[in-house]
Amino acid sequence: MSDRIDIKKKYSHQLKLRRKYAYPGLLLFVLSLVSLVFISELRVKPWFFIILGIGLFGFLVGLFGLNYWSRCPACNKVPRQGDGSIPSAAMDKCPNCGATLSDT
Ligand SMILES: [Zn+2]
Repeated sequence: MSDRIDIKKKYSHQLKLRRKYAYPGLLLFVLSLVSLVFISELRVKPWFFIILGIGLFGFLVGLFGLNYWSRCPACNKVPRQGDGSIPSAAMDKCPNCGATLSDT
């Protein structure tokens, strides 16, 4: 019984981290690309590479974090929706092992 609660706790903690780091990372990536496309002043040498670097960093953090923090703590697999995407909301049940992940 107690490890069931631990799984829920761990999962909600992971989702907190995901919200805190993975989504801002992806946002950073999108923003840096958008600013490079629309602000031509930024396409000069030093800025271009700085912003590209920031964007790449955000992309890696976002992609890695999204996969890492979406995992089911019980079976370590990423619960995916029917279309293969990672759900943005908390899953109530893991489709892989059937562990209860949240109460909502
Ligand atoms: Zn699972």
